[in-house]
Amino acid sequence: MAQYCPMCKARIEGNYAAAEDGCQKLFERVLALEYSDAVYGGAHLLTVDCYALQHSEIHRPNSNAFHLLRLGWTLNRVRVPKLGQTDNDFKRYAVDLRSFPYLEAPKNRGKITVVDVAETVEPKDHMKAVCVWAGAVWRAYGAHHPWVRKKLDLDF
Ligand SMILES: [Zn+2]
Repeated sequence: MAQYCPMCKARIEGNYAAAEDGCQKLFERVLALEYSDAVYGGAHLLTVDCYALQHSEIHRPNSNAFHLLRLGWTLNRVRVPKLGQTDNDFKRYAVDLRSFPYLEAPKNRGKITVVDVAETVEPKDHMKAVCVWAGAVWRAYGAHHPWVRKKLDLDF
């Protein structure tokens, strides 16, 4: 029986006590793929940011700010994310996480979800799907773009 995740609104197939458990299982499946294969792994940071922003209720209050900042940084600065690059370049923006504001999650968090990404088979399709997901989540959080822009000193 299909259920809908109360956070990201994904349609979840299968027998789960709650729809968000199904989302979490799909997320874990995608993570396992990204950890085990470097080609898939190129999308890892975007995957984590998108999933966290669409399921913000299960994270700490200031985590939306962190993930949105990194998503904005990735989409506008580096385009193709790499773990080491983020560690070195991004950390100067994320020095005092406790001072980050609570950014309220929008009701609509984007039409693309982890379900769409989990359905891809080929590595290039995976990266493409994660990029589309990232764009959808980024647009959904449009109300908070001014904060990201200011924090990153970006002109977009
Ligand atoms: Zn969900």
